[in-house]
Order: sequence, then structure tokens, then C-alpha cells
Amino acid sequence: MRLILLGPPGAGKGTQAQHLVQRHGIVQLSTGDMLRAAVKAETPIGLKAKDIMASGGLVPDEVVVGIIADRIEESDAANGFILDGFPRTVPQAEALDRLLKSKGLALDAVIELRVNEGALLRRVENRIAEMKSRGETVRADDTPEVLSKRLESYRAQTEPLVDYYAEKRKLATIDGMKAIDEVMADIKRVLDALSESAKASKPARRKMARRAAAKKSAAKSGKANGRVAGKVTRKAAKSAKAKVAKKPAKRPAKTAVRAKAAKKTVRSKVAPAKKTRKSAKSAAKKAKKAVRKSSVARSAARGGRTATTAKKVTKRRAKTPKRLTKRG
Ligand code: AMP
Repeated sequence: MRLILLGPPGAGKGTQAQHLVQRHGIVQLSTGDMLRAAVKAETPIGLKAKDIMASGGLVPDEVVVGIIADRIEESDAANGFILDGFPRTVPQAEALDRLLKSKGLALDAVIELRVNEGALLRRVENRIAEMKSRGETVRADDTPEVLSKRLESYRAQTEPLVDYYAEKRKLATIDGMKAIDEVMADIKRVLDALSESAKASKPARRKMARRAAAKKSAAKSGKANGRVAGKVTRKAAKSAKAKVAKKPAKRPAKTAVRAKAAKKTVRSKVAPAKKTRKSAKSAAKKAKKAVRKSSVARSAARGGRTATTAKKVTKRRAKTPKRLTKRG
């Protein structure tokens, strides 16, 4: 499990982190603790961080990111970790994302402990009083003045992480003003719900993975045929184009020839009809003529009139006055 505990100084992140370490067997990675150790050991980082920490400011991003990158590499962090006091700025959160991604890891949740600043100041004052009464050394930055400065830098630089992780759907906000046990119980509920949904979504994830694998293999075989998931590949598109280019060149030619032949056939079929009609007309004319000729010829043969005499007779008749009286 990989968690981030987010909240202003004095919100109880350290206390809750220790409890989670016991329950889940994961390590607590506190940049504050590491920096304090470095200050104590007077390492170059410690010397650099000492004054900044004492004033309540933030140690440069690259310093803390470097510390976390090294710490995550250690074997005890392989099982999971709780980040306490890191990230404190958006660039630190982005660096953490890159770091985890490069290792193929992901965050499970970011738990924000929301507290009331006035109550927080009273808490810090009580703690200082208790430590002093027990004879313990009080942290240099554990004064109301420094706490005000730390709260200021929290609001300005760390609070934007609430939106940052909310957008990534990683954020769970818990009321940090409740009693320690109640806060613990609330965190437990969040983590239980998280593991339940992870379990429930396991078969769904497997199903999705199977579908994705099937799609992939279908796409692969499709690729072999020139098709990928319904999309025509460049190769297939090229060959399809080539086919399209070839076909019209052949088919229209054939079609044109056929069309021409069909036209001819139609014409040849229509033409005889026309001819027949024409020839029928002329044949009728010829027949009429022939009939006329033959009747004249027949009457001539009977000693009758020829066509010319018939004409002459008709003329004469026309000249002769019509009979007024009946033949006797
Ligand atoms: P903490 O114990 O987490 O409150 O941290 C104590 C001090 O260490 C802070 O006030 C900072 O000066 C410094 N510090 C711890 N963590 C970070 C961080 N992630 N980025 C910058 N400074 C940090």
C-alpha cells in the first residue's frame, strides 16, 4: 500500500502514520524526520536545510525529491509506504508521480486530515507545555510564531495538492479535529473501502484485460489482412485504391461495347419494322396500280376501251347534254 498523509503541521499526520505502520507493516517516510536527522548529522543537506527549517520555510523541492527518491529505493519500502510531510508543493507531487511511474508503481490514496487552524495553535501550545513539563527538548520550529509561518506556507504551497489529488480521484478527506481513535477509525474505513473496491473491480479488470487482449489479437490478425479494428490500414487503402482504379478502366469499356451492341440490335430490330411498313405502303400502291392496269387491260381484251379511250369517252359524255326524256 502506498499512501500520502496530507495536512497542516500539527494535524496529527505523524501519529496516524505510526498507527498505519503497525497495522499494515509498511514504512513511514517523513521528510521532516529525515531532514532533522540530516541537520543533526550535519550532512550537506542538513546544513542547507537547518536555517530554512528553523524559520518555518520550505526546503527546496529538488532537495526533498532527492531524499525521497533515494529512500523509496530501500528494501523496506518495497512493501509499501506512507508519505508524511511529502509532497508539500505541486512540483514535488509531479516529481513523485514521475518517480512512481518510472518504477511501475501507483499511489493507493491520499488522506487529507482537515483541521481548524485556531484549534491547531492551541494543540501546539498544549504539546509544547506538556513536553516542557516532562523535561523534553522542544523542537526549534515548535513555537506559536514559527507555527503561524508554517501554516502560511501550507496554505500557499501545500493546500493546492488537495485539488491536485482530487482531480486524480485519489483524495479522501477526514475530519482531523476528532479524537485520535476516531480519526484512526475513519482512516481504517477509507482504506477498507478502497481494498473492497479493488477486490470487486478485480474480476471486472480481468474481464477488461481479456477484452483488450482479444481486441489486440483481432487487430493483429486484422493487420495481416490489411485491416485494424475496422480501420483500413495504409497498405489496404493503397491496394483498395489500386483496385478501384483498375476496375472502372475495364468495366466501362465492356459496358460501352455492350451498350453499343445493344443499340445496334435495337436499331436492327426496329429497322425491319420501319422497312416493312414502308414496303407495305409501296406494295399497296403497286397493287392498286396493277389492279387498275389489269382491269383496263381486261376490258380492252374484251374489245372494250383502253385507258386512253376510256378517258376520251368520259370527256365526250361530259360534253353531251343530259337526257331530258326517258328512253322509250
Ligand atoms: P515536518 O516535520 O513535516 O513538519 O517538517 C519540518 C520542516 O522540514 C518543515 O517546516 C520544512 O522546513 C521541512 N520540510 C519537511 N518536509 C518538507 C518538504 N516536503 N518540502 C519542503 N520542506 C520540508
